[in-house]
Amino acid sequence: MDTEEFRQWSHRAADWSADYRAGLRAQPVRSPLRPGAIAARIPAAPPERAEPFEEIFADFENIVPPGMTHWQHPRFFAYFPSNAAPPALIAEQLAAAMSAQGMLWQTSPALTELEQRMVDWLRQAVGLPAGFSGVLQDTASTTTLCAVLTMREIALAWAGNRKGLAVHPQVRIYTSAHAHSSVEKACWIAGIGADNLVRLPPHAGDARMGVDPEALEAAISADRRAGMLPAGIVACVGATSVGASDPLRALGEIARRENLYLHVDAAWAGSAMICPEFRGLWDGIELADSIVFNPHKWLGVPMECSAHFVRDPDTLVRTLAIQPEYLKTHGRDGIVNFSEWSVQLGRRFRALKLWFLIRAYGLDGLRQRIRDHVRWAGELAATIGAEPGFEICSPPVLSLFSFRYHPAGGLSPEALDALNQRLLDAVNDDGTTYLTSTRLDGRLVIRFQIGPFDTTPEDVDDAWRAITRIARALSPVSG
Ligand SMILES: *Cc1c(COP(=O)(O)O)cnc(C)c1O
Repeated sequence: MDTEEFRQWSHRAADWSADYRAGLRAQPVRSPLRPGAIAARIPAAPPERAEPFEEIFADFENIVPPGMTHWQHPRFFAYFPSNAAPPALIAEQLAAAMSAQGMLWQTSPALTELEQRMVDWLRQAVGLPAGFSGVLQDTASTTTLCAVLTMREIALAWAGNRKGLAVHPQVRIYTSAHAHSSVEKACWIAGIGADNLVRLPPHAGDARMGVDPEALEAAISADRRAGMLPAGIVACVGATSVGASDPLRALGEIARRENLYLHVDAAWAGSAMICPEFRGLWDGIELADSIVFNPHKWLGVPMECSAHFVRDPDTLVRTLAIQPEYLKTHGRDGIVNFSEWSVQLGRRFRALKLWFLIRAYGLDGLRQRIRDHVRWAGELAATIGAEPGFEICSPPVLSLFSFRYHPAGGLSPEALDALNQRLLDAVNDDGTTYLTSTRLDGRLVIRFQIGPFDTTPEDVDDAWRAITRIARALSPVSG
């Protein structure tokens, strides 16, 4: 492809992208295709000879979009959002055009220095104290892995990477029963083992469903008495299922007292901390040793962009730098090699999309979206709570709540679960909106979160009208 063709097709791709975004509201949110439908349209073997670009582009247009679930759809209320605001997408195109590999400062000084600035912009935006620095990782899963490795190495006096784990007492990590699966996976990969991840149940009296600090202390003491090695705590703020949040101040004080590392997973809720009025949710955050939140969820930058804040970058670098770079003065001489702050060596230019996003909307513009989402979620939860035959199962945490259909008629718990599964399937097949479920106290509930960048109050109303219409058409006796 020569320069002129590259230019021409890039324009075509830009046109396609703008049309795609403009037409989303008319599309079903979740792809209606059956498994294998897309694969059946892709040749099983790669072409030996070059194909005309016209054909490649036409196949893309014909085959791919019907097989997409539209995460940028204004009625996407499943999981958590994965927003990609247009200014950030443009930055992503520019970053792709340069395709730099930012492992070292010198492999692209702009990549590293803009990243340092953007992490600090984010730090200020969410109200963290000046002591925190950080890095942009690909995902929260990777960030939590980095944190678990760091807490392991501190607890093992930096011997784990060298000697392996067999010669040491069992390393123990504490978290909430609501913690994301990435915490368990980090323990697998770090060689700690899922059995050494102590999952504490939420405190019965805590409306936020946080862990009980006393139960945590008791678990730590029991482990010490048994000769095990407590290493750290992974706390959650706005956990994935129904938004559980741990009491960070109490956990931070325990971590200080017990000499444990405290990592906070605020992957989704962290974006809302740009609004000062929501910061009560992570009261005590300044006691954390590290924090993760994903600007690629609610804030508006496309995948992948996970902000990893650390109080002491030396512990992270000492854990992950393959050369003894920890003997140098990280950051203080102005040079940071970010490959020493992460698992992989090579890394993309992630800061550019943050720079474009934050400047194009201003923090005020981004706050406005999040405030709207939180308000609309509260209003919808109130509507659902007042609707005969429906009940709220977990109250709104920011813009996330859960509900279920519960028509009169004394259905058994199992029949209610089955009815709600049928409702969920029918709603998602209908295509007006897309919702997901979770289990709360063993029962199936339907999650609703408002987070797409382009959602309007009418989108929320349309989704709710579709849910009630479909629910009233279901016969409750079945399943
Ligand atoms: C989404 C989420 C994760 C995982 O995020 P990735 O960036 O996809 O790895 C972890 N923790 C919480 C609380 C989440 O909501």
